[in-house]
Amino acid sequence: MTPLPRNFKIILDRLENFSQAEKIPLEVLGKISADEETLPILKLELNPQSTAQKKVLISGGIHGDEPAGVETICEFLENKLYSPFLKDWRITLLPCLNPSGYQRDTRNNYEDKDLNRLFKLDSSCTEVESAQKVLESPFDLTLELHEDCDSDGYYIFQKENLQSTPPLGRKILNAIESIMPINRSSEIEEIPAEDGLIMRLKEPDEMPWWPMALYSYHIGCQRSFTLETTPKLSMNVRVEAHLKAIEIALSQY
Ligand SMILES: [Zn+2]
Repeated sequence: MTPLPRNFKIILDRLENFSQAEKIPLEVLGKISADEETLPILKLELNPQSTAQKKVLISGGIHGDEPAGVETICEFLENKLYSPFLKDWRITLLPCLNPSGYQRDTRNNYEDKDLNRLFKLDSSCTEVESAQKVLESPFDLTLELHEDCDSDGYYIFQKENLQSTPPLGRKILNAIESIMPINRSSEIEEIPAEDGLIMRLKEPDEMPWWPMALYSYHIGCQRSFTLETTPKLSMNVRVEAHLKAIEIALSQY
């Protein structure tokens, strides 16, 4: 077998090390068999017993060729960047929803399915079902970490019930501007965008398929953000941008 572009075992080792050091369980939601190995779908809950009022889900790696989200979650944990937010937030993480795609460096999983198109109908995908199970108890906020190879800058899909002025997505973009350029196209993915913020998204009923963000919104999440870096910049910069987005979303919710 030709070597795979990436090794999920490295991510698994990092998360296991964190889990052991901090005594925070690393939960296996499901397993898939691909490339002659078994790959787990992983979840961490940092403070499930906390009385903190708000709940956030941060996920990465649903598209396997977008590694910055996975790296961001590892660094968020390893550097304990969550510490200032534990008082107000119960924090759940799905570090890599598509481990087979991550290893192969492909958007789709080992069955050639785009997992982020399969949240409306019965997907029969372990990865999607694992995420749906986690979303059953509604979150106040979901942050999905993506990358877009067609983009020259950062941008955000924002779907929310709460409204604020300026929108929370705008506050995130303002903070990211000094780290990475913002994608200022008037249309992104064929949807009108305003200086990197896409808010005019369709309602769930209008869509034949749902990404994870629309599923979480549909079942009661107040705010769901899909955060997109550009992979044209270095990994360090992309991770810094995603970490800044998490920081602003949690501190200014
Ligand atoms: Zn993506």
